[in-house]
Amino acid sequence: MSDQDFDFESLLGEEFGPFHGWEKVNAAMIRHWCEAMGDKNPIYTDPEAAQAAGYDTKGVVAPPTMMQAWNMPGYTDSGPPSSDARNPFAVIMTLREAGYPSTLAVNSEQDYERVVEEGDTIYHRAHLEHISEEKTTALGTGFFITQLCTYYNQRDEVVGHMRWRILQFRAHGTDDSAATGGGEAAAELPRGMRRMRPVRNRDNAYFWEGVDAGELRLQRCGGCGVLRHPPGPMCPHCRSLDWEVSLASGRGELYSYVVMHYPEIPPFDYPHLIALVSLEEGPRLVANLVGIKRRDVQIGMAVQTVFEEVEEGLILPQFRPLEVL
Ligand code: ZN
Repeated sequence: MSDQDFDFESLLGEEFGPFHGWEKVNAAMIRHWCEAMGDKNPIYTDPEAAQAAGYDTKGVVAPPTMMQAWNMPGYTDSGPPSSDARNPFAVIMTLREAGYPSTLAVNSEQDYERVVEEGDTIYHRAHLEHISEEKTTALGTGFFITQLCTYYNQRDEVVGHMRWRILQFRAHGTDDSAATGGGEAAAELPRGMRRMRPVRNRDNAYFWEGVDAGELRLQRCGGCGVLRHPPGPMCPHCRSLDWEVSLASGRGELYSYVVMHYPEIPPFDYPHLIALVSLEEGPRLVANLVGIKRRDVQIGMAVQTVFEEVEEGLILPQFRPLEVL
């Protein structure tokens, strides 16, 4: 199917909204956000600090990056009754029915024009800004769709914008009959479909050369001695540019994990377990968790790094539970 079969032009002009939030801008949500993000700027939690910083406000100031949070409809997938009930991303359903079942969030860009403060009411309007021609990517064939959301306050002043870009696609090796879900996508791995290779550069070459040699290498700061990972040129503690390689044992414990369910895209194996492991030396490392059933995974379980050639010419560090080594 080609893009000529879709009437994208009529979709591009249509504006959706307003979309209202459930709550006014409030101190409780701001506090929770700042805790989750680790943002300790006092203007977000202390009205006096906000005033001392020059903000003309009686309450606290909201982090600009919360802009989208004020209009989230919630898990019921419908916002307040005053919101536009239409789905501004209905084009996704159109493309799914046309044989492009998978959705990949590509990127999100925000800009901010006005301060948002406690007591404000935020709403937004949205329209599709751009739909690409049909493109073939490493994942599959589909369309890049850009939605532009404009956020306003209760005085209808523009607070900021968000561009939200997705790829709606059909994975390689599938056809229109696979439109009901992503499960079929990974089943037939087309020849030549390979994992993306890690980018090697002068900052991280030591790490990947270690992996090739079956070693898990960390950086030890030459200034303050702190071990760190992921690779970087500068110590985040003392800003020293001096460092040396330190070998890790590979042992650690599972700090957290996610299970990647959807969309199933080649060439990965499913269920796709992605672990965040606290190494016994201190730093944390993200890698796949293998050799265990999903239901047996437990936070805190002891794991050991193994080096596996997941494809010809690509060795990756992975974690296995210690008991089943
Ligand atoms: Zn340091």
